Amino acid sequence: MDRTETAGNARAPGAETARHDALVQRYSARNYAPLPVVIAKASGCWVEDVDGHRYLDMLSAYSALNFGHGHPEIVEAFVAQARVLALTSRAFQNDQFGPFCEEITQLAGQDQVLPMNSGAEGVETALKTARKWGYQVKGVAADRAEIIVCAGNFHGRTITIVSFSDDPQFREGFGPFTPGFRLVPYGDAAALEAAIGPNTVGFLVEPIQGEGGIVVPPAGYLKQAREICARHRVLFIADEIQTGLGRTGRLFACDHEGVKPDVLILGKALGGGLMPVSAVLASREVLGVFRPGDHGSTFGGNPLACAVARVAMKVLTRDRLAERAASLGAAFLERLRGLRSSRVKEVRGRGLLIGIELLPDAGPAKDFAKRLKQEGILCKDTVESVLRIAPPLVIEQKDLDWATERIAKVLG
Ligand SMILES: *Cc1c(COP(=O)(O)O)cnc(C)c1O
Repeated sequence: MDRTETAGNARAPGAETARHDALVQRYSARNYAPLPVVIAKASGCWVEDVDGHRYLDMLSAYSALNFGHGHPEIVEAFVAQARVLALTSRAFQNDQFGPFCEEITQLAGQDQVLPMNSGAEGVETALKTARKWGYQVKGVAADRAEIIVCAGNFHGRTITIVSFSDDPQFREGFGPFTPGFRLVPYGDAAALEAAIGPNTVGFLVEPIQGEGGIVVPPAGYLKQAREICARHRVLFIADEIQTGLGRTGRLFACDHEGVKPDVLILGKALGGGLMPVSAVLASREVLGVFRPGDHGSTFGGNPLACAVARVAMKVLTRDRLAERAASLGAAFLERLRGLRSSRVKEVRGRGLLIGIELLPDAGPAKDFAKRLKQEGILCKDTVESVLRIAPPLVIEQKDLDWATERIAKVLG
């Protein structure tokens, strides 16, 4: 798309935006507070709204759009598969499922996979896996299994998952909650070890906390936690739904510390930006606890999802998108740090997962997201003080340069 076209345009919401907003206000539950932009089409890293304004997408649907919007090869595979076979349920087999399982387990270095759709379903599946493994293999007494989680976690929105969130808003009004979880501080390996008891079956962790504010743990933390889990026979469960598949500059964020999780959860970008596709990967010993009928999903492992995930994984490795995120991200992070804005407390992140933490008196990050929108950049606050910058991994250097100028202007 032509980026110069809208230069200098204030991108004020126009009549079409107002019309759509009125519909949403009236007919949609208010469980989101979106920026005032109604996107009508997109290609690559650029989107266009219903009033014809163009924006650079630096949120990437929370990393679900690692390949950008409408990646031609992924769209082609999607359309081709949709014409041939889209859904069978797992009551029958389909000819995309076996190859998908082989390819994703090879990519992840794990023995087996259990496919689901949304990320939250993937997390739920991992929790069920850990509990069942705890009872069947580790020998924990019935209904006593405990799973350790981290303060500041975000793993999705089901009742069980919000049961162990420490964000009051995620929980308020949704009780009673699922028991069996213990919170420890994030980044503190000693606290993890101290929290482990005889009934502990798993430790669920994000290698970098995404929704928690792009929190990068201290160097060595993942490795230490992995080692502690192994020593106490506790499953190390990595939620790489946001950090996985190249986002942080390695295939998986755990790779930065050479850590192989016992259970790996993927989602978001696995669907190539077109479908909700999630997966739980583990060893045969761990996923082997499932028997037919224990768990399932009508859409999990459907041929359309498998075809899309297969081509997404192919593009990811063939086009070396993790390396691309590493090099583009490192340079971009340096330039953002070099802005030396008096409003910024810290710029942090890995690869193309970057958080700009604002100083308390700079005002809420959401206001900066709104001002960046006026400049033609779409991004989002995570916690109140942090702006998340996470463009598609296919972004061009010239677009990052363009963005840097505008971010500098807004933070200046
Ligand atoms: C987004 C996210 C989830 C939840 O995924 P959904 O597809 O929204 O259910 C879980 N864990 C992490 C780390 C995430 O970023």
